[in-house]
Parts: sequence; C-alpha cells; structure tokens
Amino acid sequence: MQKVDKSIVNMANKVNILRILWESQCIYRAEIARMTGLSQPTVMKIVDEFIDRGLVNISGKGVSSGGKPPLMLEFKWDAYYIIGVDINEYRIEIVLMDLGFHVVDTRIQDNREIDTSETILKRLVEEIMFLLGNHPDKKERILGIGVGIPGIVDAQRGVVVNSTELNWKDVKVKEYLLQYFEGKITIEDSTRALALEEKILGRGRNVKNFLCLSLGSSIGSALVMNGELCYGSSSASGQIGHMAVERRGEACSCGNYGCLDLYASGRAIQLEAKKIVREHAESQITDLVYGDPEKVDLNIVFEAAMGNDSDALAILEKAADYLAMAVAGIINLTDPELIICEGKICRECDIFMKMFKKYIRRRRMRYVGREVEIIISDPKSYMSSFGSASFILERFIQAGGEVKELLRIKNTEHEHIIYVS
Ligand SMILES: [Zn+2]
Repeated sequence: MQKVDKSIVNMANKVNILRILWESQCIYRAEIARMTGLSQPTVMKIVDEFIDRGLVNISGKGVSSGGKPPLMLEFKWDAYYIIGVDINEYRIEIVLMDLGFHVVDTRIQDNREIDTSETILKRLVEEIMFLLGNHPDKKERILGIGVGIPGIVDAQRGVVVNSTELNWKDVKVKEYLLQYFEGKITIEDSTRALALEEKILGRGRNVKNFLCLSLGSSIGSALVMNGELCYGSSSASGQIGHMAVERRGEACSCGNYGCLDLYASGRAIQLEAKKIVREHAESQITDLVYGDPEKVDLNIVFEAAMGNDSDALAILEKAADYLAMAVAGIINLTDPELIICEGKICRECDIFMKMFKKYIRRRRMRYVGREVEIIISDPKSYMSSFGSASFILERFIQAGGEVKELLRIKNTEHEHIIYVS
C-alpha cells in the first residue's frame, strides 16, 4: 500500500518540477527546491532523470555566494515537437512547433471553397504529410497532433458532435486521422483550446477562475474553474450560444427556441443587416453593398457603424445586449475574475465591445464583490493552433515527461502518394 503511495507522490513531484522548468525556462535547482518545498536531493534525483531523458540542459554556472557556483537548468524546447491544428469556417491552420511553442513551420489553407468534412479532413492529412516531409529531422520526435474545431466536441471519442460554424454533425475526426497516423491525437472544441492556451501561455496564467468567449459567426465559451477546464458530464460544457435568451424565440438547429446564437452571433448580425437592405431602408449598409443583400457581411456592418449609421448601431446594440444577458448569468453563476474574448467581432469592432461592457455593467448583480475584467485575447503572440497543441503539451507534463509513443505515419504508401500529389 505504502509503495503505491510513494510512486504517486514521486509522479506528482515530477509533474510539479517539470512544469516549473517549463514555465521558468531557466532556473537553479535550489530555486526549484524552494518553490516546491522538496529537499535538494529529491529535486536533484528528478532533474537528473530529466537530463538523462534529454529534456533539460545544464546551461552554465550561476553566481556563487561563496561555495561551488550553482548550475543553471534550462528546458530543452527541441526535445520534442507538436503539431497544432485549428479548423474554422475560413481556414485550416497547421503549425509544427517545439515544446516552447516556437513555430518551426506553418501551413494555412483556405477553407471557403471546400464544402464537406471529408474533403477538409483529406486536405488536413495532406498538409500534415507535407509538413512532415519538409522536416525529416523532426518527424521522428513529434509527441502528437492536437486539433481544435468550434462546436460540441466529444473529446474522449474525438468526435465533432455538432459544429454550426462548419456545418458538421457526428464527424469522427480522430478515427479519420488514425487511418493515417499512430500516436496521440486530441480533438477539442476550439474555445476550450483557447482557454487552455490562455491558462498556459496567456492572461489566464495565474487566474483561478476565468471565462473565454469566442465571438465569431457563432458564439462559444469555455470555463476554467479552480484552475481546471470544465468539460461537464458529456463534454458539452460551454455551449453559451445555445442558452435561451428569448422565451418565444425562433427555432434553433439545436432543438431549442430563442438561443443566443440567433440574436448575438456574427451570423445573426449579418442576417439583421441583410433585412435592412432587403427592405430598401435608407442606410449606409444599403449604400455600401449597392442594394445587394447578398454582399452584406460583418465588415459592412462594422464600417457602417463606424460611420455612425443608426441601423448598424442598433443591430450591434441589440446583439451586445443579448450577449450581456447571457454572460451576466454566467458571471452570477460562476463569479469569474476575468473574461477573455476572441473572434472577429471583438477584434474588429470596438464599438461592439464598448456596448457589451456597458450592458454587462448594467446587468450584473450589484452586490457581487468586484467588477469582472473583460479583455481581448492577444493575437500578436499566439496562433490559433497553440490552443489545440496545449492539450498535447499538457499530457506530456502530466506524464512527468515520459513518452511512451511518438507520432508515426501508419502506412508509408500514404506518405509517398500524398507527397507526390
Ligand atoms: Zn440552439
């Protein structure tokens, strides 16, 4: 009994130390001992194991305070690599990166002309093969492929249960990829991937409770509570877009009525603007598309709003109010300290974000302690696929850096056919 406990403790220590090494990049052994409360010999034993496995380098000697100068430890980013994938309705992004999320190579494919899930997945496999073919020196040291897709994703089975953005239902993404590759493959909802990325690399790093909101053509969310990502009982947690905000609202594809997506998503904003043009209303929206409703997109609405067009402003105001109604409910329920927003609407429309914050202030409970901070995810330092890659990194850290399997191409015939074509 005692033996089992010992190995659990040993693994927990390894995970703890590996995470500290990853986060600090460069650190003294004594500093790790101080941070973990472990004895120096215990830290030394574990660190030596990491050095033997090629995960950590001794990068030089630090400044001595009298005795032997201490050794500086450095995480070896290029010990392994990860392939991160992000698929949305516009494009497929595939990134080969090292363990420190330094980008080695990227492939970006336009998705708008490809219609079926089968064609998109076929293209994805081709692009991964191409990437691997371009980097034969790294090909043998890839921990796995992390894929992010917006919608309800059953992460355990690797199935996209429903994605309104991509119009996918019950697409077995993992099973498809396993025809070509062996090894770790994770499929996740892209908003949940964003939340993990923010937790590891971004503003959520030292925040215990935060909410991520994805404001694109549909609305997604992901919650981190007490430092843990929420999945729910069937992996469907975070479907804020299908929270009913109208008692007698329109029918939604999810089976409910009056869902938030029908009133506040990019798609809803676009539909409202189209209505203005169809009704031949005098509006900058109508002028900008020369009276053709089919030409209306979000950019047109944003441009008209910037030009102070009352119709465009009213559409955005209504959407922001509906969104705030749903988000205020989540704030009351979960009491987050931070909300991180992502997506075209928050990135490209300041006016919308100001309206959203105004309505949140109006709708939040007066007697809840502090005012929740609402920020936009930093696009400059990250790529969308970092989030999905974070799941592979997290598994690696949780395994104490032990790697039982690496990514392999299943059938070299595929490799050959795809490289040539
Ligand atoms: Zn719905």
